[in-house]
Amino acid sequence: MISDNLENILSELPSGVKLVAVSKFHPLGELLEAYAMGQRCFGENRPQEFAFKAVQMPQDVEWHFIGHLQTNKLKLVLPYAYIVESIDSIRLLEAVNAWGERKNKVINVLLEVHIGVEDTKQGFAPEEVLDLLEGENTYPYVTFCGLMGMASHTDDEQRIGEDFARIKTLFDTCRERFPRLRDFTQLSIGMSEDWRIAILHGSTEVRIGTAIFGPRQY
Ligand SMILES: *Cc1c(COP(=O)(O)O)cnc(C)c1O
Repeated sequence: MISDNLENILSELPSGVKLVAVSKFHPLGELLEAYAMGQRCFGENRPQEFAFKAVQMPQDVEWHFIGHLQTNKLKLVLPYAYIVESIDSIRLLEAVNAWGERKNKVINVLLEVHIGVEDTKQGFAPEEVLDLLEGENTYPYVTFCGLMGMASHTDDEQRIGEDFARIKTLFDTCRERFPRLRDFTQLSIGMSEDWRIAILHGSTEVRIGTAIFGPRQY
């Protein structure tokens, strides 16, 4: 049951840690079930599905885009997104900034950091994040709100903990080095299988799908 799953997770989540309900590949009825329980923050990873659900769902939902975003899909995502968590290249960042300039809208973003062992995982290397933030004033239509990362896909909890510890260290370094970034407060780490470990490593936001909605459909 979605409501039981939500309740259990919320009861265990420390106060101050935001729960993003990752509803990708689940039908609207299931999102509405979570909405009826008071859940307002949802995450989606495909532009088309994101736009469809954002239009169909009640307007007070806070939408987090968490998937790979191609620059030709910005118009499906940016009008509805409270935040884009998956900025994984300079090219995308530039395109988001340019879109913001055209629409006179400032876009909240997280920088996705490559922390896992997989080669295929998208995201910036830690040094790239520091270089990028050094030049943050190149992007006046972007608000840098923090970092997002995914741990290695493994059962090895120590390995997962090491991945999270690395991104937490980078997060702290960014905050120390760039105090002018007042909104740089979010560390989005932790999914269904590893969110408890992420909490131990300073997560401020967990992105949980399967543990709320069950296996992904369609
Ligand atoms: C799908 C997804 C999640 C949620 O994954 P679950 O294992 O179902 O909790 C979290 N973050 C991102 C970036 C995702 O794509």
